[in-house]
Amino acid sequence: MRLDDLDPSKNVRDQGRGGGRRFGGGGGGGGLGLLLSFLPMLLGRKMGCGTILLIGGAALAFMYFSGGGLQLAGGSGGGGSQAQSSGANVACDTAEEMFACQVLASTEQTWSKLFQQQGQRYTPTTLTFYDQSGQSGCGAAQAAMGPFYCPADQGVYLDTSFFREMSTRMGAKGDFAQAYVIAHEVGHHIQNLSGVADQVRNAQRTASKTEGNGLQVRMELQADCYAGVWAAQNDSRMEAGDVEEGLNAAHAIGDDTLMRGAGQRPVESMFTHGSSEQRMAWLRKGMQTGDPASCDTFARGAVR
Ligand SMILES: [Zn+2]
Repeated sequence: MRLDDLDPSKNVRDQGRGGGRRFGGGGGGGGLGLLLSFLPMLLGRKMGCGTILLIGGAALAFMYFSGGGLQLAGGSGGGGSQAQSSGANVACDTAEEMFACQVLASTEQTWSKLFQQQGQRYTPTTLTFYDQSGQSGCGAAQAAMGPFYCPADQGVYLDTSFFREMSTRMGAKGDFAQAYVIAHEVGHHIQNLSGVADQVRNAQRTASKTEGNGLQVRMELQADCYAGVWAAQNDSRMEAGDVEEGLNAAHAIGDDTLMRGAGQRPVESMFTHGSSEQRMAWLRKGMQTGDPASCDTFARGAVR
């Protein structure tokens, strides 16, 4: 993907190494009750299919769905300190970071335009880099989590070593694979702005485990579709092989592929992100339509 003519986004922070230590876990403590209630799910995934944590799957969903509760107590820890630690000349200073900063800038252009078409204003997300450990409005960030979106501070968090891991260990190579991951997280931001995220969280409070997982899958597939929409809106920047890189990455992080990779038999009721086939299908759908309205994964029969 050609983005080198774009100025990097200004909505980027760099916590550097040990961001978590610096902020002393202030953000994390407040939501302990919620953290604990999600712990069994998180642990189950961690032990069952460790690779999911590498790519950020379970942790991301965990952060995502527990974030609303953390907003009350955890807000001050992340937001305030983050602004202090930011430095315009620190973020985006490696080639990998620069690319991520340009992807973010591109998503800002695209979603501003799409929101404008609906008579709305787009409020961009913030991208925070950290090294090994960091601090978010949803608690501590660990490299093993992979990228995630924190609704409490509306931020995307990315460990700087993640893309190398993705390429070497997940078999998801290529710059577009990286762009897709960032665009997917921005997709969660769109869901936060649109209110879908709140609706799903509310519905999950009374849903069974299986139903809750089903809703989570639809959330993830919608974020994939939104990533595809972003790509379609920038198709003049796409290069040969980009579509394949994206689809390959979507395949690599499908629940069934991850479970098989961990030596498990895929069980659909345990899926939280969708199968490889579903993830590829929704990314492709966004890429083909370029229209967020086509990303209604919650429609009856949309996800089978
Ligand atoms: Zn996601």
